[in-house]
Amino acid sequence: MTGRIDVLTIFPGYLAPLELSLVGKARAAGLLTVDVHDLRTWASDRHRTVDDTPFGGGAGMVMRPDVWGLALDEVLSTGADVSQTVLIPTPAGEPFTQALAEELALLVCAGGQLALACGRYEGIDARVGEHYARAGEVNVREVSIGDYVLNGGEVAALVIIEAVARLMPGVIGNPDSLVEESHGSAGLLEYPVYTKPPSWRGQDVPEVLLSGDHGRIGRWRRRRAVDRTAQRRPDLIEALGPAQVRPARALDAEALAEVAARTFPLACPPSVTPTDAAAFVAENLSAEQFRRYLRDRRRHVLVAELAGAVVGYTLLVVGAPENERVRAAAPDAGAELSKCYVLEDFHGQGLAALLLTETLALAARSGLTALWLGVNRANERAQRFYGKHGFERVGERTFTVGTRTEHDYVMAHTLRSA
Ligand code: SAM
Repeated sequence: MTGRIDVLTIFPGYLAPLELSLVGKARAAGLLTVDVHDLRTWASDRHRTVDDTPFGGGAGMVMRPDVWGLALDEVLSTGADVSQTVLIPTPAGEPFTQALAEELALLVCAGGQLALACGRYEGIDARVGEHYARAGEVNVREVSIGDYVLNGGEVAALVIIEAVARLMPGVIGNPDSLVEESHGSAGLLEYPVYTKPPSWRGQDVPEVLLSGDHGRIGRWRRRRAVDRTAQRRPDLIEALGPAQVRPARALDAEALAEVAARTFPLACPPSVTPTDAAAFVAENLSAEQFRRYLRDRRRHVLVAELAGAVVGYTLLVVGAPENERVRAAAPDAGAELSKCYVLEDFHGQGLAALLLTETLALAARSGLTALWLGVNRANERAQRFYGKHGFERVGERTFTVGTRTEHDYVMAHTLRSA
């Protein structure tokens, strides 16, 4: 049994698109009942007036509660024995979300009634919503489809009906299309999508999508979804909660290489060219190298994972410093904190601090008493960060990136035993 959707408006013709496309087909197939009512039917004067001047003065007109009351009473009487929701679109409402669309789709699927009251002018007299909410038999929601102002609620009603209807069984041909969509249960925006031709105006489809390797494709899509969300909707990333820090696994090697390739150049001073940085990454931070590191008991890699994607990592290399100057500067250091990186889009969320704290704890648990690290002399931000977490400047060293010899400060940290 499916329920019904009623739309009340002074412009029934505005809702004509509901005859088209998937919603139109669903209506024709009897999967969905949508009735559009002309509000003026319930007006009592010769001019079929539905509005009047606002109490308190000011510009514009307000829609009369008496006309809306008669209209809603009659439309709601048709579904008096089922669950009913009156939705009042208004820019002053709570945001209309995918979660609310799902809730309303469930209501309609379960035989309930959804009535949409489309305002015009300055909106509907506030007592209308309050009246139906107070009676308690009907759920009243005032919803906004976005932070902008339309001329009327009809376009908002179309938006809401389409978002609700496509979640109802049978409306979308392939229900798999609904999985992994933006604003779904993962809380992410969808990854970018591509189709034929594989090459278009000099742009190629990412190679991984042609590989047939579904594990890799899945990881690539997750990575892009998380990146896109961080760039476009940091609020959604924040809502996911804190990242998880865990030891890296063999399957993380490609993700680690990608994070390394994106983060390493940003930490280099301007004197290091992109070619030099890329040469360093290719030699030391490729997926193959990470696979090797992950097999090596003297290397510990921790990753920060957010919504299933690696967004940062640390690499700890156990062993006394090989470089004489470093050994002299940090004689007690039993390991080097070789890398501590977080993708730029995820800075400012305390992820680097979380990774570093976990790495220091791991080092202490492993019986190490001190760590050292090299940080470029020009990278004051990193020096401040390490200083805040207990590292002190103890010396200097040189460090080669591609063809460049760089000057680093050596910093050391004495660990409290676990
Ligand atoms: N005076 C109202 C305000 O500032 O909040 C705006 C009224 S608007 C011009 C007229 C009607 O358009 C509203 O009653 C509502 O039905 C609809 N409307 C406008 N913007 C909307 C939005 N962002 N979301 C939902 N409905 C909207």
